[in-house]
Amino acid sequence: MSVSIFELFKIGIGPSSSHTVGPMRAARQFVAEAEQAAILAKTHSIKIDLYGSLALTGKGHGTDIAIMVGLQGEAPDSVDPDKVPFIVAEIRNSEQMKLLGKYAVPFDEEQDITFHYQETLVHHPNGMSFTLLDASKQVLKQHVYYSIGGGFVADEASFKTDQLVQDKHKVKYPFKTAQALLDHCKTQNQSIAEIMLENEKAWRSEQEIKAGLLYIWQVMKDCIERGTREEGILPGGLKVKRRAADLKKKLLAKEAQADAIKDEMNWINLYALAVNEENAAGGRVVTAPTNGAAGIIPAVLNYYLHFIKNANEEGVVKFLLTAGAMGILFKEGASISAAEMGCQGEVGVACSMAAAGLCAALGGTPAQVENAAEIGIEHHLGLTCDPIAGLVQIPCIERNTMGSVQAINSAKLALMGDGEHFVSLDQAIAAMRQTGLDMKDKYRETSQGGLAITVNQPAC
Ligand code: SF4
Repeated sequence: MSVSIFELFKIGIGPSSSHTVGPMRAARQFVAEAEQAAILAKTHSIKIDLYGSLALTGKGHGTDIAIMVGLQGEAPDSVDPDKVPFIVAEIRNSEQMKLLGKYAVPFDEEQDITFHYQETLVHHPNGMSFTLLDASKQVLKQHVYYSIGGGFVADEASFKTDQLVQDKHKVKYPFKTAQALLDHCKTQNQSIAEIMLENEKAWRSEQEIKAGLLYIWQVMKDCIERGTREEGILPGGLKVKRRAADLKKKLLAKEAQADAIKDEMNWINLYALAVNEENAAGGRVVTAPTNGAAGIIPAVLNYYLHFIKNANEEGVVKFLLTAGAMGILFKEGASISAAEMGCQGEVGVACSMAAAGLCAALGGTPAQVENAAEIGIEHHLGLTCDPIAGLVQIPCIERNTMGSVQAINSAKLALMGDGEHFVSLDQAIAAMRQTGLDMKDKYRETSQGGLAITVNQPAC
């Protein structure tokens, strides 16, 4: 498979890449294909079935809402997050869904969306099925999709052909392992970012790649800005208070005092909190590589720009290209889906990517970058996913602050060495994969274990 960096860093909306972005994309794709096959005009009703983790944490993660909005023809990267509540209210009030915004069918959420809490489809814990019916209840079209993490969508055919990402582009320097990537760096005498840049040219020009990455950074930056302004309570029923705006005020007040020292670590905490609070509120975020872990790469990039002398846009591009290479390694060697890997596959992977990106931006060699990425994941191995009430809030928001600080420390530690180290990144990825496979379902984005059980919470 070939994965473009712009598939890893996708502009979307919160709160979840696997439970919001992926299902919205799948829903839109389903109705778009039905329109092409001239089926929508004959459609009288639609049924949606959610399985496994999509059923168990679908309400908290907004899967039902994402699907309704996707069926109406909206896409995660272009829908205005502020309009989503109005689109959903319109569907609910009118008891009607406008497929692709054009073909009206009666729609009763309670009747037409079924959450199969006890059932998981064969290929992946995040399964969903869409069915179009005619007036005599005959099936016009039915399709099963899987949201395989990070907003990526696969279907039955993808699993049969082992082509989870159906992209036929051929990259110049293919790699599935960190060792293969390091070998390319050695034989070409290039950095990881340079190898990635060459590969990315399979899709677009160098100018487009650089402009696209800087635009991704702009969206991340906007998200930090919004997150540090917004106050109040996050939606969902847990009554979680937003903290970023208050933290910013406190930091500014503290630093206004004479002889104040800049509280570097709390600024990093602030950047991550801001992004993940926006994500939890259903705002505009960049999956990096998932929404639940979307705060780590922006926080570390912002740290780079604010705290490192001579940081510049070139460094931002290098950071993102390098981080993207690491994301591909995790996708190839394991998974970035919490329903398969637990939180090690989200926050752990984002930490590893950010560590590598920062190390590269600070001038690290390919071996040091690989070392930074390895440190970043090694100390997240075994991390479970146990969101309280199925909401991407606790432990998710704060966990991004931890991942960000750890990423910076990983890069710093790697830069003090010569790249030689005991556990290779490939071995750490293999350990993550095996740990994820061995992890009980209750710790893999089902909200049936860990904090989701030990913390008393109101029904949402
Ligand atoms: S616990 Fe981690 S993996 Fe699970 S929803 Fe939260 S951020 Fe995502």
